[in-house]
Amino acid sequence: MAVLPVVKYPDPLLHEKSKNIEDINDEIKELVSDMAETMYAVEGVGLAAVQIGKLLNLFVIDPVYAGGTEKDPVLVFINPKIIKKEGFIKEEEGCLSLPGVFISLKRSVRTVVRALDLEGNEFEMEGKGLLSKAFQHEFDHLHGTLIIDKVGKLKRKIAMRKLETD
Ligand SMILES: [Zn+2]
Repeated sequence: MAVLPVVKYPDPLLHEKSKNIEDINDEIKELVSDMAETMYAVEGVGLAAVQIGKLLNLFVIDPVYAGGTEKDPVLVFINPKIIKKEGFIKEEEGCLSLPGVFISLKRSVRTVVRALDLEGNEFEMEGKGLLSKAFQHEFDHLHGTLIIDKVGKLKRKIAMRKLETD
């Protein structure tokens, strides 16, 4: 396992579309453990594969945000689809790939995701509130969409002034 550098804006990779995973092999399993370790190291709610440079339809979520504890295994979503969206919530959102930038976004308050787990079994999970927002945020990453792509030019310009570059 290894903590990997998070791909930051303006890396063009962040605007690429990810591809489905055909075979959940050892390479994918190692990628998932690296993603989990990276997510915990930077204290993110979730992390998409593209954020560590892999254009694969895969994201992980910290189980603490899904009613679990720190001892639970990381939540893994392979080839995820959002199959249900309900209601609206508008709150500030940040992104590990855009450090310092926060944008108020309208999201569905309840979301159901269908995905494969590491054993290749299909499952569905319902997310409410923060978890629902995390599902939509990570799902956007797999389609090459960042939070700044979801608002108008002016809002984006104001938000981007806060971008921390290193
Ligand atoms: Zn993000």
